[in-house]
Amino acid sequence: MRLETRAPGKINVCLFLGPTRADGRHELVSIMQSVTLADRLRLEDQVGGGGAGARDRVDCPGVDGDNLVTTAIERFRAATGWAGEPVRISIDKRLPVAAGMAGGSADAAAALRLLARASGLEDRDVLHEIAAGLGADVPAQVTPGRVLATGVGDVVERVPGVPRYGVLVVPSATPLLTADVYREADRLGLPRSAADLEQALAQVRDALPDIPDALCVNELQPAALSLRPELEDTLARVKAAGADVALVSGSGPTVLGLFHDRHAAKAARDRHFPGCKVAKPVGPHGGEVLAA
Ligand code: ATP
Repeated sequence: MRLETRAPGKINVCLFLGPTRADGRHELVSIMQSVTLADRLRLEDQVGGGGAGARDRVDCPGVDGDNLVTTAIERFRAATGWAGEPVRISIDKRLPVAAGMAGGSADAAAALRLLARASGLEDRDVLHEIAAGLGADVPAQVTPGRVLATGVGDVVERVPGVPRYGVLVVPSATPLLTADVYREADRLGLPRSAADLEQALAQVRDALPDIPDALCVNELQPAALSLRPELEDTLARVKAAGADVALVSGSGPTVLGLFHDRHAAKAARDRHFPGCKVAKPVGPHGGEVLAA
């Protein structure tokens, strides 16, 4: 059996930062949107090819250390009791790593889709539960698209509207660790009170299905800029290149330019950011599982 799927990256069209919960994680309100810039995952079972004692295996050039997809396979087997043949999942990384586009979470969610299809155990609730145990950003990615994320990002509500913008993605050479950015946000006193976060949620809900440019705000951005002041210059260049909105993606350091006119996004890329990608929003079909 050979199956493949894409793991679309996500952008936070807006992110409002709330107080810390007892477990140390921050509450937030965010519209998360999957985009066409995506990793590719392929699942093959290892019948005959794996040899005696074969185990599940993950190949992911470009990512050192433990891979979230390995944990996703372990958790899927444990939660469902699935005892199918060992699988090999190969990941073709196209999303920048540790860059604020939730590549690891997207890969883990994509792996769950592949395993669900391979095993025939396609219970969405079970997948959601496994996803929530893997990380706050994973549940939103099990079905790519557009969601309103609340809680610590784990309470996911699908919201309508496919925004018609082009997304210029400007990666950065040096990664930023999400935990460091949240710590910096605390140090700077950025998080809102619970009441203020409620207010942001009401504003976002009122604006749906569209999020006006003025609400396209990332409240983690000042923390990312504090740790990487050079991003100010990238933001200014993206804006000067014609972006309607320039913002840091998630915890950064990737910078995004949102262009209502997709052609303008490509023109800006070609003139000012050669080598960078222009993506567009994508819905659930962006995560379809296909026979390879
Ligand atoms: P988020 O926005 O969810 O915080 P991010 O985009 O900032 O995520 P990732 O690309 O998900 O960051 O990588 C975060 C860390 O996860 C990296 O240090 C990386 O080593 C580890 N990691 C584990 N598995 C993966 C994977 N499949 N792809 C990318 N990173 C992975």
